[in-house]
Amino acid sequence: MRLFIAIRLDDNIKRALIDAQYELRQRSLKGRFTNINNMHLTLAFIGEYNEPEKVLETMDKIQCEPFSLTLGGYIGNFGNLLWAGIEKEPRLEALVKQLRHFLSTEQIPFDRKSFNPHITLIRNAIGSKEFADIEVHKASMTVGSFSLMRSNFGRHGAVYTEIGSVELSQT
Ligand code: ATP
Ligand code: MG
Repeated sequence: MRLFIAIRLDDNIKRALIDAQYELRQRSLKGRFTNINNMHLTLAFIGEYNEPEKVLETMDKIQCEPFSLTLGGYIGNFGNLLWAGIEKEPRLEALVKQLRHFLSTEQIPFDRKSFNPHITLIRNAIGSKEFADIEVHKASMTVGSFSLMRSNFGRHGAVYTEIGSVELSQT
């Protein structure tokens, strides 16, 4: 099964992201817009792996307090993939650092490219390159847990389902 670890987003953040997608459409950008149900912040992409219980046990080892996640207010891109940036947050960096450490020691595979926190808005974008000035509402949420997600390819693109989640707790 295809797995990844992510932070799920609340409705307030999603609303800001939907508004940003609307702005992109206004500028005649075309491509595969992320469906509202699929919006998330990837922490680690595992890929094909068939021991989800082992991944959840590994996630459980992490010590991290709840923290706030705030949209950075801008849109960035990796080639033709456009994303919403988020504000720098040391606890998010620390969470990902621990996560990578424990995944490594448990020999669970994951993509080791440097962590570049982003929320994908559109893939394979074509059209206007003028999105740098779009202002995204700096919505905020408290992150109290993170989730193990499964990705399935359906007829209408990827469908993500939560396999389980781990709570962050005050230390
Ligand atoms: P599609 O591949 O059809 O575009 P998708 O990217 O939405 O669909 P997946 O490829 O299963 O679905 O990816 C799940 C999540 O993991 C997405 O947020 C994706 O951006 C991220 N992801 C996928 N591959 C990698 C990778 N090699 N490294 C880091 N993150 C990845
Ligand atoms: Mg993909």
